Amino acid sequence: MKRIAVLTSGGDAPGMNAAIRAVVRTGIDLGWEVFGVQHGYAGLITGDFIPMSARTVGGIIQQGGTVLGSARCPEFMTLEGRQTALQQLGAHSISGLVVIGGNGSQAGADVLAQMNFPVVGVASTIDNDLYGSDITIGVDTAVNIGLEAVDRLKVTASSHHRAFLVEVMGRDCGYLALMVGIAGGAEAILIPELETDPEALAIELRGAYERGKAHAIVVVAEGATYDAEALCKYFEANRDRLGFDLRSTILGHVQRGGAPTAQDRLLGTRLGAAAVECLARDQHGVLVGIIKGEVVTTPLAEVVTSKKLIDLSLFALARALAE
Ligand code: ADP
Repeated sequence: MKRIAVLTSGGDAPGMNAAIRAVVRTGIDLGWEVFGVQHGYAGLITGDFIPMSARTVGGIIQQGGTVLGSARCPEFMTLEGRQTALQQLGAHSISGLVVIGGNGSQAGADVLAQMNFPVVGVASTIDNDLYGSDITIGVDTAVNIGLEAVDRLKVTASSHHRAFLVEVMGRDCGYLALMVGIAGGAEAILIPELETDPEALAIELRGAYERGKAHAIVVVAEGATYDAEALCKYFEANRDRLGFDLRSTILGHVQRGGAPTAQDRLLGTRLGAAAVECLARDQHGVLVGIIKGEVVTTPLAEVVTSKKLIDLSLFALARALAE
């Protein structure tokens, strides 16, 4: 009988619990023992392993966050930390590990794979910036939460003839901002991939005002050249020229919480089960993700050295639709 472990690492994402549940129950179905590692790589180092049963993961599929806890663990970046982690895995007789997380977490998984430990990654980050999966666990829920906020802000913006800067997460990747902006009918979208020119934004907002719009919504990725705060500061001196009265809302961690959507539950379930199937056929050192609707594996070494790009034609589409 095999003993495997599962951990969640880095930024939490709605749908991680569905993935944990699928790993545990698929593993048990194969007659294996499954352990949960608490607090990501930190728990791997301290040996924080808990036996999981089918019942332990009951009632979690509908919960956001991760029941195993997540953490950022600088100690795992050191060779010593990783060697301790490997010793702990050995001491618990674990012969396979599933790592559910984003870019940083998969970089950690790749390092373990290079140290010859059988590890399989599961693509999970609300930023959708992970190579090897068209869509990652948590993105759909985060887009829907951002969208709900935009819809609500639009109502109040229209009543007062206001422009709202809505800042969404995305330090390096504008995917969330782009999707929320397009689905929310934003007048402008600012993403890290394209340089922000506040003067051009002022002209766009003024234009929307003069075309008779009752409101303007600007979706700003937190990593854009000017974030919401910087833009407010920039326009502070002469807000009048925008036409609209300007306000800003930073959604921040609100986007991480919330019950996972059906899509994130299904994605977490499919990818969690696929990770165990990989270990069952002795395939490891890979990430499981979804490409063109199919579950696929990509070598972790390729995942961590490649960059996923967003489709900038969607940015042009968003501009055309803001008319
Ligand atoms: P995410 O997985 O959401 O991108 P982070 O970037 O915070 O999250 O990474 C989560 C954890 O993964 C880090 O705290 C660290 O323990 C581990 N990690 C990140 N990068 C590396 C790396 N290059 N080598 C080893 N471990 C890493």
